[in-house]
Amino acid sequence: MSVDKKTFLVTGGAGFIGSHLCDALHSAGHEVICLDNFFTGSKSNIRHLLGSERFELVRQDVNDPLSFEVDEIYHLACPASPYYYQIDPVQTIKTNVQGMINVLELARRVGARVVHASTSEVYGDPTVHPQTEEYRGNVNVLSSRACYDEGKRCAETICMDYRRQYGVDVRIARIFNTYGPRMAINDGRVVSNFIVQALQNKEITVFGDGSQTRSFQYVTDLIRGLLALMAAEGFYGPVNLGNPEEMTMLAYAQLIRKLVGSRSSITFLPLPPDDPRQRRPDIRLASERLHWNPQVSVNEGMRKTIEYFRPLIDQQRVDQPRILNPIGKHVPAHPSPNGIL
Ligand code: NAD
Ligand code: UDP
Repeated sequence: MSVDKKTFLVTGGAGFIGSHLCDALHSAGHEVICLDNFFTGSKSNIRHLLGSERFELVRQDVNDPLSFEVDEIYHLACPASPYYYQIDPVQTIKTNVQGMINVLELARRVGARVVHASTSEVYGDPTVHPQTEEYRGNVNVLSSRACYDEGKRCAETICMDYRRQYGVDVRIARIFNTYGPRMAINDGRVVSNFIVQALQNKEITVFGDGSQTRSFQYVTDLIRGLLALMAAEGFYGPVNLGNPEEMTMLAYAQLIRKLVGSRSSITFLPLPPDDPRQRRPDIRLASERLHWNPQVSVNEGMRKTIEYFRPLIDQQRVDQPRILNPIGKHVPAHPSPNGIL
């Protein structure tokens, strides 16, 4: 294989997105070190790579000092589901701040290039629509989501300070809602919740009146965008990576019910606090600077994701989707049949 072989570190590499990134880098002929503490990730996501001499799995918390000889780093370690990032908010903000510093210290020492996985949550509950990279956001600093939102905002600040102060070549991707195979069944995010509920013919849990919007991007589109950002010369973002196909959560519930062919009814549960009302990326910057555009439609991507989940539901006793209650605390398993928490 003729390839400029490099060594990559993927933090959070056993997670949903991280495992797809490990696959892409490994199949391009590179050496991949996957670091993960398995808080939300799983060995099953990277099991198929374990026998390879070019793949190494390290169980480590990114908040502990990092020591690796690598050329490039993708920093993804951080829970992304609101249910999970609010279980231990202090750990979440620590991961966003201390973990980011550890990654950038490593990059500074070994001269590695870094792509940081930031998020559309830095825009909070946006008052500008669609969201451009210039928009500075509307985040409630006191919210139960702030451990993630403010943590990711602070991580971006740390990236820029390491760039200016130490010349670290760090790039920032602002990732919008991404979905696909290898999302955890009990991850708690809307895509896995609705698909699992529909496949089980159980109530689909729409939070609020379902008029809030999101724009869903298929994972392979995101991976292409992250690789393009790492390879770019003279451009470091921040750059939005997302699919602008926007829909309400009620319309999304109806779409999933139809695609699955499900008998599920739709139940309405209280909206968690500070849940963003609307979200859609402006992707002109990614299109111009990275020549990147999403290619997978929501219908096509959701069908693939449903086909990933279907056998898991058929063959196993699965955990129920996770549900956030209105004060941001966690309630176990499925809501009661009448939808009252
Ligand atoms: P995920 O929860 O599946 O993956 C996160 C991975 O990080 C897991 O494997 C987890 O075990 C690991 N991890 C968490 N804390 C860690 C720590 N302290 N030390 C080491 N490993 C740790 O989530 P994902 O959807 O794959 O998200 C990956 C990254 O992308 C996250 O940084 C997330 O904030 C970002 N992102 C994701 C989305 C999305 O829609 N999926 C959107 C915006 C940003
Ligand atoms: N949501 C929902 N039902 C669920 C899970 C989530 O209606 O079972 C809503 C949630 O309130 C939000 C949207 O779906 O408006 C996306 O939620 P998710 O947790 O996937 O990600 P977010 O974009 O909020 O980080």
